[in-house]
Amino acid sequence: MRMVDVIRKKRDGEALSREEIEFFVNGYTNGIIPDYQVSALLMAIYFAKMNTEETVWLTDAMLKSGEQIDLTSIDGVKVDKHSTGGVGDKTTLVLGPLVAACGLPVAKMSGRGLGHTGGTLDKLESIDGLTIEIEKDKFIENVNTVKLAVAGQTANITPADKKLYALRDVTSTVDNISLISSSIMSKKLASGSDAIVLDVKVGSGAFMKNLAQAFELAEAMVGIGNNMKRETVGIISNMDEPLGLGIGNAIEVKEAIETLRGNGPKDLLELCLTLGSKLLILGKKASSDEEARNMLEEVLANGSALAKFKEFVSAQGGNPDFIDNLDLFPKASIVKEVRSLKHGYVNKMNAEEVGKCALILGAGRETKESQIDLSAGIILNKKVNDEVDENEVLAYIHGNDESKVDEVVLKMRNLIEIGDSPHDDYHLIYGVVDKHGIKKLS
Ligand code: URA
Repeated sequence: MRMVDVIRKKRDGEALSREEIEFFVNGYTNGIIPDYQVSALLMAIYFAKMNTEETVWLTDAMLKSGEQIDLTSIDGVKVDKHSTGGVGDKTTLVLGPLVAACGLPVAKMSGRGLGHTGGTLDKLESIDGLTIEIEKDKFIENVNTVKLAVAGQTANITPADKKLYALRDVTSTVDNISLISSSIMSKKLASGSDAIVLDVKVGSGAFMKNLAQAFELAEAMVGIGNNMKRETVGIISNMDEPLGLGIGNAIEVKEAIETLRGNGPKDLLELCLTLGSKLLILGKKASSDEEARNMLEEVLANGSALAKFKEFVSAQGGNPDFIDNLDLFPKASIVKEVRSLKHGYVNKMNAEEVGKCALILGAGRETKESQIDLSAGIILNKKVNDEVDENEVLAYIHGNDESKVDEVVLKMRNLIEIGDSPHDDYHLIYGVVDKHGIKKLS
């Protein structure tokens, strides 16, 4: 087989065979096929697209390019949740304890973030002593006993995706549904779970900027999962404004704890109940959304989800007092307010721009080597559709560098758009995609 023929075939709009896909994925991973030929093929895929079969074969080839994690020694059905990424997204920190308290094992492998805030691992490290560097045996033991463990990704999973993603990034070929869905799903499938719930974000702070794209991506990923015998459900959720009120590392962990205490922001709780219900159903702990939601509401109300989070923190070496006393978390030395210049209703707040503000404050990493400031971030006081008085506080800016805090105060004042009336076209959940098809909720 010659790479030039594979490129020509795709360039002319033909479907590739499984062998041709395995040939280029393996050849590229092993350094036999050069960047310039794979770049040409990616551009051909970008324009000529891939059909469902080709996309499944591509996922399978990338999945098999590296290590596949074996979770069979964990009792019960293993279900994973994946978010396509957004601003203020701390759902894992709430969802993990919630579903674990309902008896569903949560074996979470997470990454460090490159973006507006850290990843789940960075956030958790704002709890003194907590370590995510746990050995595989201890990880499995904790999942079996505590029902919840979070570890850093040390295994060499999907090296093909790592190379292809880096090449896509510099050849302007990221933005293709087959390439995105196979990239995300190959990593999820390699992580060993039996079933997957996807939180596909849509809006200004998400990868997918409009609903049609988000549904298309969800359908493609659900199709891959189900095709590969791992039942997958996708929820399409709003990322036009940040999720919840807090953006930052310690700030988000504190908000997650408040949510487990029953005092969390409405949108965050609702999203967690929606995703959690799907997790419990796929994990065979509940047979309907209603039953699952009742179970989740009960462990929230009776304190067992909060107790589960504390148990998890202790099991991974963290100081459990942090859960009872939020003052122990790292605190910024400077806190400034952003105030509204007029009376009205919050109409818009570009989530991506809010995320960039958090990055300026030091809450995220610009490069892999950047140090994160765990205490820095933003706490919103108003969300879309809230009424606001002239001079009322819109947000609190937390940081340790006065000039950066001042810069963000100015930026945030312009970012939060105030109109004369509420914005009536607002939804948190836009729809569900599962093996039965698409269900639009708006
Ligand atoms: N995230 C991924 O992991 N892969 C993509 O292609 C896009 C987003």
